[in-house]
Amino acid sequence: MSEIVKELLYTGKAKDVYKTGNDDEVIIKFRDDITALDGGRKDTLSKKGEYNALISAKLFEVLEEHGVATQYIRLVEHNEMLTKSLEMIPLEVICRNIATGSLLRKYPFHRNQRLDPPVIQFDYKNDVYHDPMLNDSIITALKIATQEELDKIREITHVINKVLYKFLNERGLILVDFKIEFGFDKEGNIVLGDEISPDTTRLWDIETHDNFDKDIFRKGEKGVVDAYHRVVDLVLTEEEKEKWNVEKVEL
Ligand code: 5GP
Repeated sequence: MSEIVKELLYTGKAKDVYKTGNDDEVIIKFRDDITALDGGRKDTLSKKGEYNALISAKLFEVLEEHGVATQYIRLVEHNEMLTKSLEMIPLEVICRNIATGSLLRKYPFHRNQRLDPPVIQFDYKNDVYHDPMLNDSIITALKIATQEELDKIREITHVINKVLYKFLNERGLILVDFKIEFGFDKEGNIVLGDEISPDTTRLWDIETHDNFDKDIFRKGEKGVVDAYHRVVDLVLTEEEKEKWNVEKVEL
């Protein structure tokens, strides 16, 4: 644990948030716990937290380079990220480039149908109500966000999708879909928070369409950590892998 960690503020399904000595900053600790099926499947997989922290940090850095405001400041340990503290908006913003997952269970899309323009959907981040899908009227009526804020969130999400799709594609991965979360910083700006990792995205091998994401765990198959390790190997530079002592991938 890094020395700046002070007091546990919040514990989630796979991450903990800690106070630091500075009220404007919190530490997000990525744990090795993994859950799926609304908490119905759980496990602890050694190194998963570290790999998700490294991948999230890298993708946040790429987004910052393209002008997207994120809460990321820097990694302070393999599995601990120093971040700006945000007041989180309880929305799961889901962006889809290919029809799969729950979209196929709920609507008559063809499997693997290309979605252009991408489909953006808002789910309510609420365990009691099991994360139902919302629309703009429900969101504004519940005062979760204003219409203007929602429009801004959609605009930023399209930019995030464009930037990450290209970055990952150049590294042999298809960004099929992803879930992101936003919050307000102390000036009231909408800022990307939480994580972007194989827990929250679907990433497919360009050639084989094999999953490199949590779908492996959802399907009850083995090889989750090896797949996440492969994503680390593909997205980090050699210098970054050396800095964080990432082991070589055995192909
Ligand atoms: P689907 O709705 O097809 O299950 O998921 C769409 C995308 O959003 C997938 O990349 C999935 O990982 C992500 N996603 C949706 N809901 C959640 C959630 O509650 N937790 C996490 N970690 N990811 C989610």
